[in-house]
Amino acid sequence: MAINIETDVLIVGSGPAGGSMALALSTYGIDNVCITKFSRLVRTPRAHITNQRCMEILRDMGVEDEVMAVATPKELMGNNTFCITLAGEELGRMRSWQTHPSREAEAKLASPTFINDTPQYLMEPILIQNATQRGTKMRYNTEYLSHEQDADGVTVTVKDHMTGSEYQIRCKYLYAGDGGNSKVAENCGLPFEGKMGVDGSMNIVFEADLSKYVAHRPSVLYWIMQPGADIGGIGMGVVRMVRPWNKWMVIWGYDISVGPPEITDDFVIEVVHNLIGDHDIDVKIDSYSVWTVNDMYGTNNTDGRVFCGGDAMHRHPPSNGLGSNTSMQDSYNLAWKLAAVLRGQAGESLLETYNTERIPIAKQIVTRANQSIQEFGPIFDAIGFLSTQDPDEKLANMEKRKDNSDEGAAQREALRKAIQFKRYEFDAHGVDLNHFYESSAVVADGKPEPPEGFDMELTYFRTTVPGTKIPHNWFRRGEYGSDIVATLDLCCQGEFTLFTGIGGEGWVEAANGYSDANGVPINTVVVGPGQDVEDIYQEWAEIREVDEDGCLLVRPDGYICYRSMSAAGNAAELVANAMNQILGK
Ligand SMILES: Cc1cc2nc3c(=O)[nH]c(=O)nc-3n(C[C@H](O)[C@H](O)[C@H](O)COP(=O)(O)OP(=O)(O)OC[C@H]3O[C@@H](n4cnc5c(N)ncnc54)[C@H](O)[C@@H]3O)c2cc1C
Repeated sequence: MAINIETDVLIVGSGPAGGSMALALSTYGIDNVCITKFSRLVRTPRAHITNQRCMEILRDMGVEDEVMAVATPKELMGNNTFCITLAGEELGRMRSWQTHPSREAEAKLASPTFINDTPQYLMEPILIQNATQRGTKMRYNTEYLSHEQDADGVTVTVKDHMTGSEYQIRCKYLYAGDGGNSKVAENCGLPFEGKMGVDGSMNIVFEADLSKYVAHRPSVLYWIMQPGADIGGIGMGVVRMVRPWNKWMVIWGYDISVGPPEITDDFVIEVVHNLIGDHDIDVKIDSYSVWTVNDMYGTNNTDGRVFCGGDAMHRHPPSNGLGSNTSMQDSYNLAWKLAAVLRGQAGESLLETYNTERIPIAKQIVTRANQSIQEFGPIFDAIGFLSTQDPDEKLANMEKRKDNSDEGAAQREALRKAIQFKRYEFDAHGVDLNHFYESSAVVADGKPEPPEGFDMELTYFRTTVPGTKIPHNWFRRGEYGSDIVATLDLCCQGEFTLFTGIGGEGWVEAANGYSDANGVPINTVVVGPGQDVEDIYQEWAEIREVDEDGCLLVRPDGYICYRSMSAAGNAAELVANAMNQILGK
């Protein structure tokens, strides 16, 4: 079979993983082709919670404004509501997604970006449109079938669904963002742990004006506790906002051991009306589909020149909103490494660190997302739903929380605690931001050491220990104070950056020397009065954890890869050693 197309990187899939890989590579000037077997991007809502770390990536890629222009802002996300029906009794709310005033402060201190709700059908076009404008060659109706690799590259056989013909694409590296049923991962024989099909669920997308039930308590998720809501699915019946307040998606579970119920228009309208609790609401069904809750992650994401990312590697329920966020971070982690190797700046061993750094994250998020489902149990328990199968008795048990009795007080307290405990799903800032990389692409200098009792799942732990993301700060750039920039805006953009302060001239010389000698750009930022930027709020001095004349070396993906506590006479040697280790030279 003839080879029709040649490229540096072939990307399979145009979802969050594939789309962000295409965007990053094209931004870095790396030749790439992206294929998807469908004739379009996704049209259903799918992923929506877009967390701060993901937004940092999108900011670095220059598309943050485009995303925020279509996003539902966090101000409309926070009243996570637990109720019997939307129209019926409400059991409680929790302020989620960093909208509680104290959590909001933490979020503002952690990043220049904001969490938001961007349904996947609005996110994918931004990724792909910008990628193609920057150079990605996009091929729809093109299905990956198989591949073979040799010492120099990978030959991929694809099928053109427009003509039915098969042809080959030759690439130096293959990146598979082909989703939870990844054919590439299967063909590579990549190992997985866990189980697919743990539970059954269905999505029902519909249009209905629900303003009168939700606009006074704006949220992305309304959790409906009806008899039957604890069966299958993601732990409870959900009415999810897609666009406020007229486009929605219901998630309703089914017992996987029995199999999906017969799904018809009448059936789904009945489910939707039951959850709304108002059968007179006009509901226009858009689509419905069944899916399974999975609990599986890859223990190796790489096979020679082939790399897998996104749902191909981590298959889990939507709890915590981690899927698309993690998928984009996989791609962002690998993209600069591929660029460095393809430009001849790094050895191929740099690519091995994709596996070392991202596999622990895959395991962590799959475990977290599945655990979050189990953590609805205490809510059902608190209202007496678990002690009986009878629907009327369940509702009667729930009423007891209104009693002036010890039992009523205990139930109220149990419910309060159970709802608060769901912060681990709906406000887990640490899960989003506390990723820590240990690999040869980081010069180790200990581990983050939070104080005793610090909850690394709930709270972001700010540190400059190599292997963590560069902390956020606002700096003044330029003379008149009009240009206020974030740490993030001073680094990334596909290149290394060295931060130092007054007295750290030796680090600047060392970075420049390494750049000139090796053709690897290292940008430098000196912080201080009269320098590149000024720490006008006097906060960087506390954040940086190194002396003013020390340094922080930051990778193109915003992770600190080396630091020195103070000036050093042999700065040139230290920077060269660090860079050579990181780049695998
Ligand atoms: C109800 C629901 C809610 C969710 N909520 C969130 C959330 O709030 N936040 C979050 O981060 N995640 C969420 N997720 C998860 C998120 O949708 C997925 O994690 C994400 O889509 C994974 O991205 P991906 O690019 O890896 O795979 P996918 O989005 O599945 O994309 C796979 C791509 O590969 C292509 N493809 C597949 N096979 C082939 C082939 N053989 N040849 C060519 N192309 C192929 C497909 O066409 C597609 O373009 C949710 C998911 C669901 C179902």
